Amino acid sequence: MGETFRAIVIDKDAEGGVAASFRDLDSGDLPAGEVKIDVAYSTLNYKDGLAVTGRGRIARRYPMVCGVDLSGTVTESASPDFRPGDRVVACGGWMGETIWGGYAEKASLPADIVVPLPDAFDLRQAMAIGTAGFTAMLAVMALEGAGVEDGEIVVTGAGGGVGSVAIALLARLGYQVAASTGRPSLHGYLGDLGAATIVAREELDNEQPKPLESERWAGGVDSVGGNTLATILAQTRSHGAIAACGLAGGVRLPTTVMPFILRGVSLLGINSVVLTAARRRAAWARLATDLDIAKLDAMTEEASLDDVPRLAEEILAGQVRGRTVIAVGG
Ligand code: NDP
Repeated sequence: MGETFRAIVIDKDAEGGVAASFRDLDSGDLPAGEVKIDVAYSTLNYKDGLAVTGRGRIARRYPMVCGVDLSGTVTESASPDFRPGDRVVACGGWMGETIWGGYAEKASLPADIVVPLPDAFDLRQAMAIGTAGFTAMLAVMALEGAGVEDGEIVVTGAGGGVGSVAIALLARLGYQVAASTGRPSLHGYLGDLGAATIVAREELDNEQPKPLESERWAGGVDSVGGNTLATILAQTRSHGAIAACGLAGGVRLPTTVMPFILRGVSLLGINSVVLTAARRRAAWARLATDLDIAKLDAMTEEASLDDVPRLAEEILAGQVRGRTVIAVGG
């Protein structure tokens, strides 16, 4: 019998459904993994909301510790890349799906999804960034890679985690940011993060998006999908690009080929789960240089593991602002 620790675990119930609950686990229960970590913080992402409420089938093995990301301190390592005492961060990489995730005081992970935490951040700030902020960085890097060097960039789902970090990054890099939100109460917050313009969510949520509209956006970071993504594609300038990150507004994409073949617009898929170790480290290195820590702190709230079931409902209802770190370890 090893040390016991608390976790939020998804398991199958008697009716064949899945449900999340708090459990005490034993360190002997931990799966084999090259890097053992004392978890300090995890965070709340939209995907965590889907997993914990059971509204999305995120876990693909049971029992599964929820939480798609974590920061903490290495306690044991079979990898030459890590030593006990190292501060590390891990996002995606199938955590909370097939690999036990961050809503537990201890974790055991494959080395290739673990990244040494840049000195610029403490363990709490690492999870203030978390998967949402990491994804925002990947989206910005994708826009850069597509040649979007300047101009007006639309960020949809702006008040959420991906949106908030994307605004802070883009503004710091000198882009003009238009933030699209459904929450008028967030206009001041989004302006403080660096948004130059606010666009009402309804303006982009056209029931029947036109194939093409007047050209406006040099690029975009989209957390919403659905009609919104179709609309911003129709409004994107020639040779602009939209980084598609999310599905908060729907998974369908009612567009046509017109933006692509008449304007050379690129649709860039962003996936924070499956990435090379080099790409993960590159994104964290960019966050360390390009994210304004004061803005990160301003968009972050802290909660405990006990708050996660309530927060999971709130994030799916679009009521969570910015980033929420979850204090896990003592
Ligand atoms: P949040 O819930 O924090 O942000 C989503 C935002 O979208 C909300 O804050 C809200 O912004 C807006 N929104 C919510 N519901 C709707 C709706 N019905 N219609 C239009 N807008 C809506 O989530 P995250 O930032 O953590 O994640 C954003 C999206 O990105 C999610 O779909 C998530 O699954 C996805 N994602 C994908 C990743 C990847 O690897 N591709 C990684 C991380 C996240 P506002 O109130 O300002 O309008």
